[in-house]
Amino acid sequence: MKVHHLNCATLCPVSARLVNGSGGLFSPAMITCHCLLIETNRNLILVDTGLGLKDIVHPDKLGRIFRTIIRPELNPAEAAVEQIKRLGFSADDVQHIILTHLDLDHAGGLPDFPNARVHVSATEYNSAMMVRTLRNMFRYHPSQWSHNPRWKTHEADGDKWFGFDAVRALDKGETEILLIPLKGHSGGHCGVAIKIPERWILHCGDAYFFHEEMSFDKPHCTPGLCLYQRVLATGNKERIINQQRLRELKRNQGAGVQIFCSHDHGELLTFREGLQNK
Ligand SMILES: [Zn+2]
Repeated sequence: MKVHHLNCATLCPVSARLVNGSGGLFSPAMITCHCLLIETNRNLILVDTGLGLKDIVHPDKLGRIFRTIIRPELNPAEAAVEQIKRLGFSADDVQHIILTHLDLDHAGGLPDFPNARVHVSATEYNSAMMVRTLRNMFRYHPSQWSHNPRWKTHEADGDKWFGFDAVRALDKGETEILLIPLKGHSGGHCGVAIKIPERWILHCGDAYFFHEEMSFDKPHCTPGLCLYQRVLATGNKERIINQQRLRELKRNQGAGVQIFCSHDHGELLTFREGLQNK
């Protein structure tokens, strides 16, 4: 089993200083969309998809607010499907896509893998499909699933993982991948825990945005990311509680559970370079 850490879209909102914590006040920030490609002897599994080729060809569909404030780079070479091809595979080799949630910067690659089974929490699916609020109209883009993906929705059924609720995404005998409900950012937002032979890794999605938020003694977030998380949260209290639970998990499990989020560029580099084990 091999886990590839991919950046499937670069977002460059204004103010490196306010977003990344260093750099010019008016220089572009750098936010990555950290996705995973899990290569097993049976198949490929993708965790989150970033932006897809359709988003890059028709950026108008992403909405004016996203384009003007978040400023995606729209580089086709970053689309998951293109990276997968460069690794020597085809789109059809991806049999499962596991999503932390359905925000446009996580679900955009879905149309590039029309035959994959798409796993998401039932609560997230229902809020993306049915709840029409202004916030939901900004974050969810139905055109990203107008091809009718083969959805498989999951609900917590009493299983636990280090004290968190947990739902097995794939059948027994397949790779051990769990959806871990971490509500707050969106209605049914989940982390994705993957058992790699010697430890667990937990993709926290958008449960936090900046690595220093996971410091147990002095959690810190930059003002830009603080504001963005607060505005997008459907349950801010739950979001804050879940961040504290993640800090405790990190402190208590040490190297046994390695955690990272979707959008911290430094974390992505650490995993890419294998420095997380140092
Ligand atoms: Zn996101």
